[in-house]
Amino acid sequence: MKKFLESSWTIGIATTLLGFILTVSYDLIKEKQVFTTIGKFFSILWGWIITFLTFDLKVWWVLLGIAVIFFALYTIVKIIEKKELLKPEFTDYTQDKFRIWKWSWGWKFNKMKNVWQIVNLQAHCPKCDTPMINKGFGIFQCPRCAYNPESYDHEEPYEVVKVISDNLYRQKNKGEIQS
Ligand SMILES: [Zn+2]
Repeated sequence: MKKFLESSWTIGIATTLLGFILTVSYDLIKEKQVFTTIGKFFSILWGWIITFLTFDLKVWWVLLGIAVIFFALYTIVKIIEKKELLKPEFTDYTQDKFRIWKWSWGWKFNKMKNVWQIVNLQAHCPKCDTPMINKGFGIFQCPRCAYNPESYDHEEPYEVVKVISDNLYRQKNKGEIQS
C-alpha cells in the first residue's frame, strides 16, 4: 500500500484529478463556463498519454510478463491434454461371462476415427481361467491346462464385440452409464 501511494502513477493521477476538480470548481464560481475546463481536460489527457508512452519500463517486468503468459498457456494446454486422456466410465467394463466363456479386453482411443475401440480381446479357459490362444478358424487352446474345446459351439470374437457394445448400449439407456 505504501509503495502504491508513493508510486509516480498514483501521485500523477491524484494530482491531475485534484487539479481537474479544482478547475471545475473555479470555473463554476467564476461563471466562465466549461471551455477552460474542457481545455484543461484535454491537456490532462495528453499528459496521461505522454506519461504512459514514456513510462519507465524495467526489463525484468517485461521478462516476468512473458514468463507468466508462457506459464498460463502451458497450463491451459496441459488441462486440455488431460481432458482428452480422461477415460469414459464404460472403459471400466473389461470382462464378462458371455454365452459359453468368460472374455476379457481393453479399451484404446482411436484418434483417427475419434472412437474408443476394444483391444486385446481374449477368451478365458473355462477350467483354469487362463487367457486362451486363438489359433484361428474357431480353434482355441489353453496354454496352461491344454484345454482344447472339441465343439465349435462357442462364441467368436466378432460376436463378443457385438454383445459388448450392445450391453453398453442397454446400460446407457437404463441411465446407468453417463456419457
Ligand atoms: Zn486352462
